[in-house]
Amino acid sequence: MGTIAVVTEQPLDAPILGRPGEACGVFGIIGQDIEAARLTYFGLFALQHRGQESAGIAVSDGENLTVYKDLGLVAQVFDERTLGGLPGSLSIGHTRYSTTGSNSWENSQPTFRHIDTNGIALAHNGNLTNTASLASHDDPMAATTDSELMTEAIATAMSIDSLSLADALARVLPTFDGAFSLAVMDRTTLVGVRDPHGFRPLCLGKLDRSWIVASETAALDILGAGFVRQIAPGEMVVIDANGPVSLFPFEEASSNLCLFEFVYFARPDSTLLGATIHNTRQRMGRLLATQAPVDADITVPVPESGIPAAQGFAAVSGIPYMDGLVKNRYVGRTFIEPAQALRERGVRMKLNAMPGVIGGKRVVLVDDSIVRGSTTRQLVSMVREAGATEVHLRISSPPYKWPCFYGMDTGDRSTLLAADRSVEEIAKHLEVDSLVYLELENLIEATGAEADAFCTACLSGKYPTDVPTIDSKFLLERTP
Ligand code: AMP
Repeated sequence: MGTIAVVTEQPLDAPILGRPGEACGVFGIIGQDIEAARLTYFGLFALQHRGQESAGIAVSDGENLTVYKDLGLVAQVFDERTLGGLPGSLSIGHTRYSTTGSNSWENSQPTFRHIDTNGIALAHNGNLTNTASLASHDDPMAATTDSELMTEAIATAMSIDSLSLADALARVLPTFDGAFSLAVMDRTTLVGVRDPHGFRPLCLGKLDRSWIVASETAALDILGAGFVRQIAPGEMVVIDANGPVSLFPFEEASSNLCLFEFVYFARPDSTLLGATIHNTRQRMGRLLATQAPVDADITVPVPESGIPAAQGFAAVSGIPYMDGLVKNRYVGRTFIEPAQALRERGVRMKLNAMPGVIGGKRVVLVDDSIVRGSTTRQLVSMVREAGATEVHLRISSPPYKWPCFYGMDTGDRSTLLAADRSVEEIAKHLEVDSLVYLELENLIEATGAEADAFCTACLSGKYPTDVPTIDSKFLLERTP
């Protein structure tokens, strides 16, 4: 019998700065006589940066499959008591930022379906692009996210046609277009899958005799697990008591790993395409300094996303690196709504400029990206108030012009600062003395890979697949 355990606490408030969202984090582990849910908890802890809206763990002891999830951060959702109630040696977990559907308990993951004597749970990073054609708009019980839709289709194939989890996945997944890196389980099997384009990362790891799938290698490091390899685009790794077996159920497609993983998403201590992300970001800064030299006194990073690029910039330009901004590490979510006057000064909740460092200086301000521009604009004015005589903004990625349909919730085109503006217009809007973005070929050079390895859609407008014409993350939701 599959069971589902839930908590229904008060939903937490929205992120206070209203900035764009991040891709989700997925994790899965299978072993023998291990506390899989506890290990998953730590894996999710390392993947918290990929989604802060909800967290969840599914676990199986071979008999029962239990899901526990709620809105909030990993450390808010789980404690000793809840983890103690999740026994079993097979588990998956998820940290969510909503890319499809609103931020509600129902939309949190892992998703779950009961199937006769079995059950399945699924954790999804990415976003499907053919959701509209697959969804049932008549069924009041129908899924409200693309991940629910996938779970439903897999469960149907398992119950109606008595397929194993692996066979059901191999049959159903090729009908889905778009981005999906998945950790899926039933009572006895863990499956890690990447869509044929490999938009989102997924790696395979090993801890003693246990196998792990995870969005990023940082989730292996936290457990002291070894990195085995990246799961390939289009690969499905099926792991049970006999160990892993690889299947390739999809038609071959171009490889399109998200280039923005390198710019912003992935943790600096994760490795992708054989390089540590931190080093790749430093290289971006070095190339930016060569591409856009400037006469200035100090190089100041926007913490934390701009730090490695600023280090690279300072090393090549010779303009000393200074920490002129301090970040409050504990901001991200709050239970207390800031009063309106405070909210309007949103960025100050998160960052503070130090006049003692910045005052009287010509500042090169380095950040990884500008999406909507609201944070950056406030930041520039804060740096000026702290006494900077000039502000030269250097961004270690090209202008972000196009919406992402593959798992990054940056809103529609109208919200993107660079969508219809020239660099000069953006500089004027942000009130900076100069602005230079890293050129796309330099960004790709920094990764050390070839251009055809990536999805560059948000920067180039070149989408590797058909994309929906209705640009809405609420595509599946019913109107009341
Ligand atoms: P804004 O000026 O409002 O566009 O914010 C720029 C900041 O947003 C930069 O510091 C980036 O590191 C950060 N950023 C970039 N992409 C995302 C994302 N998908 N979610 C949250 N923040 C992001």
